[in-house]
Amino acid sequence: MTRSGQEYLASLRDGREVWIDGERVRDVTRHPAFRNTAASLGRLYDLAHDSEHSAELAAGGVHRAFSVPRGHTDLVARRRAHKIWAEAAYGFLGRTPDCMAAAATAFTAAPGVFTTGGFDGADHARALHRRMAEGDLYAAFTLTNPRTSRTAAGGPRDGDDPAVRVVAEKDGGVVVRGAKMIGTAAAFADEVVVGTIEPLAPQDTEQAVSFSIPVATPGLTLLARTSYEGRARSLYDNPLSSRFDENDVLLVCDDVFVPWERVLTYRDVDAAFRMWWHTPAYVNLVHQAATRFWTKLEFLTGLAILLAKAGGTYELPPVAQAVGRMMGRVAQAKAFVLAAEVSFEQVDSGRGGVMPGREISYAQRIMAGELYPAALREVRQLAGGGIVQLPASGEDLLHPELGPLVRRFLGAPGHGAEERVKLLKLAWDALGTEFAARQEQYETLSHGAPHVYLAQQAWEGDTEACETLVRECLAGYGLPSDETAPR
Ligand SMILES: Cc1cc2nc3c(=O)[nH]c(=O)nc-3n(C[C@H](O)[C@H](O)[C@H](O)COP(=O)(O)OP(=O)(O)OC[C@H]3O[C@@H](n4cnc5c(N)ncnc54)[C@H](O)[C@@H]3O)c2cc1C
Repeated sequence: MTRSGQEYLASLRDGREVWIDGERVRDVTRHPAFRNTAASLGRLYDLAHDSEHSAELAAGGVHRAFSVPRGHTDLVARRRAHKIWAEAAYGFLGRTPDCMAAAATAFTAAPGVFTTGGFDGADHARALHRRMAEGDLYAAFTLTNPRTSRTAAGGPRDGDDPAVRVVAEKDGGVVVRGAKMIGTAAAFADEVVVGTIEPLAPQDTEQAVSFSIPVATPGLTLLARTSYEGRARSLYDNPLSSRFDENDVLLVCDDVFVPWERVLTYRDVDAAFRMWWHTPAYVNLVHQAATRFWTKLEFLTGLAILLAKAGGTYELPPVAQAVGRMMGRVAQAKAFVLAAEVSFEQVDSGRGGVMPGREISYAQRIMAGELYPAALREVRQLAGGGIVQLPASGEDLLHPELGPLVRRFLGAPGHGAEERVKLLKLAWDALGTEFAARQEQYETLSHGAPHVYLAQQAWEGDTEACETLVRECLAGYGLPSDETAPR
């Protein structure tokens, strides 16, 4: 059954080992580096549990991301649920609970992938889905090896490899050691799925272990990056970073025991790779990401419009064109979501329901990586220099002597200083802060590096159809003496 925000927050007080700035975090729901974001995530749970949106977010008390879609209508229903949560954070929380929920559901749509010669993880994949759906659990995922795990040439490294790997088998499970890089939101999750989304070399069988364990598992350490929430001055000064900083942790396993029933793939490099690409897991992740991206572009476009209105430039033709370009980008982002749904594909010959079309889903990553920096540039341009000429904090507006100065010099016709400064500070948090820079990195690289996904698009796309079109054109004419040549 869906959890309330309070139930979710209570589940985070479980002794998990999260470190930041040399300090062990006792309780992420109370620590100033994490508490507001935890509360924002709690509000998502409240929306599904008991609000006007409950019916759209959950069916039969279970979040829609846990249902295997059987057709286009179900995909649309799942997207509506993704959209409501995306809007609740204006698109700035990337790895909300519905993300891995949809991927875990995908594992059960094609469970055969987990059954290999030496190991059968199909029931474990089903159990993961059941556990998450019944407990309304939040799982993060870490699928990338630390880059120090390879040489500059991409080959094996001398000495101890830092990537997570199996170091022993014990009664009832395996012991794993090593690290995975970038576990977004793992500090806020109930479980973390550890795996590998990139192809491993055939000999890397000890790294080909995929599993899901509670974040509070003994030996599991989460090393958080700088907290933008922790650095935020106030809600007024940093309205986004103070509330939507999902953090990205380095995940370290120090001889962590993983019971067999939580192991999904074992010592099989193909299965470890296929669980993401030969089930709908990856496209389901993109479905959530693309819906959130569309929402974020709507937000950036709204910002552009309000900034232009506050600056008195909205009626100018070049500004109208800039807004037109932004609206065009929103339409593109939306079109990718709708097109992926319309081009849905059967999973496991229909036995596993349907998934968004792969070609469009994969291409969404290319579009998003290019559109996001372009959209930021556009809004920055419209914001002008005023965006950096702001009082250091809202305190200045409250100060008896400075307040009147700020009001006199930073207000604009029809826009009081308090309102204008508030808007500009919101814009700076979306465009210029450290939080904003990390958001841009997220939109351009969280789907993987371009050299990987661009090559994949070329290899897996219907390049034949494109070539054929040109071949047909070439075949339609010859040298001027040739009869087929047009006169
Ligand atoms: C903010 C953020 C959040 C993330 N969250 C998660 C998460 O929650 N879970 C998760 O599993 N992953 C997450 N990722 C990780 C993401 O999956 C990886 O960043 C991505 O796979 C790229 O890997 P990399 O950063 O190590 O890039 P690398 O593979 O090191 O590549 C970096 C750059 O080097 C160049 N390069 C490298 N190799 C080549 C080559 N062979 N040919 C040409 N150029 C090359 C390219 O310019 C490339 O962009 C996140 C990433 C970011 C930025």
